Amino acid sequence: MSHTVQQDTVVSFHYRLSDAEGNELENNFDAQPTAYLHGHRNLFQAMEAALEGKQVGDELEVTLTPEQAYGPLRDNACQKVPIKHLLGKPRKLQAGQLVKVNTEKGAVDGTVVKAGRFMVDVDFNHPLAGKTLTFAIRIADIREASADERAHGHAHGPGGHQH
Ligand code: ZN
Repeated sequence: MSHTVQQDTVVSFHYRLSDAEGNELENNFDAQPTAYLHGHRNLFQAMEAALEGKQVGDELEVTLTPEQAYGPLRDNACQKVPIKHLLGKPRKLQAGQLVKVNTEKGAVDGTVVKAGRFMVDVDFNHPLAGKTLTFAIRIADIREASADERAHGHAHGPGGHQH
């Protein structure tokens, strides 16, 4: 059966993510492919559009502007946070360190700007905000989504959502 990527298929893919300077940021070619349910806004819209109609084994490169990916850098995204609100109680805090902050809206990712004794300045921009990103993708598998997956709006099983 030859599937193509279309609405309500579960697509597994390997990818290498790099920034505009060609620095590799992520790579899962040696690991389990990522699985997602197509057509449910689980990926960036421009990425789903590029994947539409592709087949197993196809390779493609998709370059996303910051607006198509994690958004532009906001300069008002810095906040002082009590250190006790950091998840995982990190012992040493250094500038550039990624942390999770416990907020009313749940755990939020941030980057340490400056750490004091009780308070830490955290930049809540996504670490990839403001970056032009290129995904080099190779499609590993395409299958029909189950009724459960369609109802949940995401892929289940290896590389997907685990319940
Ligand atoms: Zn689910």
